[in-house]
Amino acid sequence: MRTPTLPPATHTNVYIIGQGSVAIVDAASPYDDERAALDEAVDALVAAGERVVELVLTHHHVDHVSGATHLARRLGVGVAAHRETAARLKGRVDVTRLYDDGERLEYGPRGFRALFTPGHAPGHLCFVDEASNAVIAGDMVASTGTIIVEPDDGGDMVQYLASLALLRALDARWLLPAHGPPIADANGKLDFYVEHRLKREARVFAALSHEPRTVEELVPPAYPDVSPALYPLAARSLLAHLIKLERDGRALRDHDRWRLS
Ligand SMILES: [Zn+2]
Repeated sequence: MRTPTLPPATHTNVYIIGQGSVAIVDAASPYDDERAALDEAVDALVAAGERVVELVLTHHHVDHVSGATHLARRLGVGVAAHRETAARLKGRVDVTRLYDDGERLEYGPRGFRALFTPGHAPGHLCFVDEASNAVIAGDMVASTGTIIVEPDDGGDMVQYLASLALLRALDARWLLPAHGPPIADANGKLDFYVEHRLKREARVFAALSHEPRTVEELVPPAYPDVSPALYPLAARSLLAHLIKLERDGRALRDHDRWRLS
């Protein structure tokens, strides 16, 4: 569905899981024409005998939740998410059921398992199909566009890297991201993501000196491969890397300036 997501992505995938009883993951769009298209698709499923049990959210970002209230009301069902997601959606989306790490969702031949994967967002959940070992991956990875870890919105690079490692340990058959087509080489994609982050961290570290500098001053040397138009986005990710380096004891923060420890 077309959503207000981060370019170059323009759409968010909505997954409908199960047979007989189904759940709709990330009813995403705030746009009327897109919502109408999803309504129609869901109506066709219901007419064919499927029962929609609930809506499920991977995380709280606007390009994942903006159709949830509309569709939940229309179908008369509840919305399920992690409690950290529910807390961030208070007043916008009424989350009526909480899923925690390891919880089973009874959809499909062997059910799905919720996997708590914070980092991109504090309440991020992935959903593992026990029958196929395919993983609904939310915004852990993308096949179109990039994943932002934004400290101002609960993003945490240490947690994100740990969650990538959790996914890697699954040896998943497929990753089904929220943005872009399915990813067949799950392990290759996850290895690439970890490598990409660690390379960036090395560049951020190399840009630091004993002279304190602001995030804005650190962007050009840490992101030589990025066009200046994207510097504001890069600055958000750079801050996430700096906070990780600080926690690792390799960087020091002095108000809004950063230097080597
Ligand atoms: Zn997101």
